[in-house]
Amino acid sequence: MKIAIASGKGGTGKTFVSTNLARALQRTGQPVILTDCDAEEPNDAAFFDAEIVKTIAVKHEVPQINPHRCTYCGRCAEWCAFHAILIVPNLRFAQVLPDICHGCGACSVACNDGAITTSPRALGTITIRNEPNLTLVEGLTEIGAMSPVPVIKEALKNSHDNRAITLLDAPPGTACAFAVTVSQADYTILVTEPTPFGLSDLQSSVEALRDMHKPFGVVVNRAGMGDRELYDYLEAEEIPLLLEIPFNRQYAVTYSEGHCVVDSDQALEANLLEVIQKIKQTLWK
Ligand code: SF4
Ligand code: SF4
Repeated sequence: MKIAIASGKGGTGKTFVSTNLARALQRTGQPVILTDCDAEEPNDAAFFDAEIVKTIAVKHEVPQINPHRCTYCGRCAEWCAFHAILIVPNLRFAQVLPDICHGCGACSVACNDGAITTSPRALGTITIRNEPNLTLVEGLTEIGAMSPVPVIKEALKNSHDNRAITLLDAPPGTACAFAVTVSQADYTILVTEPTPFGLSDLQSSVEALRDMHKPFGVVVNRAGMGDRELYDYLEAEEIPLLLEIPFNRQYAVTYSEGHCVVDSDQALEANLLEVIQKIKQTLWK
């Protein structure tokens, strides 16, 4: 079973829910994989003492144009869906813009003059860490890479174990990085807070998941703050409310010190495990 934990914006408690859910499952003896797909700013590993067992370099092939073979026909630029090639025939100028190249290889196929060669470019790193009953898979995008998506895909590829429950800590927002993560999940937990900003971002995530025909439910973090508008929305849209996590100063302190709250709070641990039961009931009914 794969469960994504997502939120329309950063700072709502997505990482708090992901790490504490992973720890709660781990403490029951259930093997769990926690995959940090927030590949531009991963931080799940900070909450565990897991040892690094493997690192994988993520690369793609970036084309180079050989000026001695190029006829400046412009075919490669026409084939490039990402506008990453600039050809100016009058000036006999041909250049690939590596920062926006997606490494799709279309230009190499398009060129009939053998003018294109490729060289690898680093996109990021996958780090795999282990501790008893827990595997942490972390994607980290190289600074300047055009997108975290290739790194996330590689992280997801390394997140398979039939015995484990896999938790995917999704990137914030509803763009490609979010879509590629939740597309792999059987169920998505949307973490939000009861404020107008929380509601607005939740609505975007709900729209995206409904377009993808993916089941989901909501965890309200910092419950007790804000207003009732969020709850009215959930009721009107018949969206399952999986859990409310009350605003608690001690939670914030424990989290900021890099510890999992469920290590010292049995009530939260039980509530998070109950969320897993609710998801199982939804998926297996
Ligand atoms: S590899 Fe793809 S994205 Fe990169 S320049 Fe060639 S066609 Fe464009
Ligand atoms: S398709 Fe080949 S020959 Fe034509 S402009 Fe591109 S690199 Fe040059």
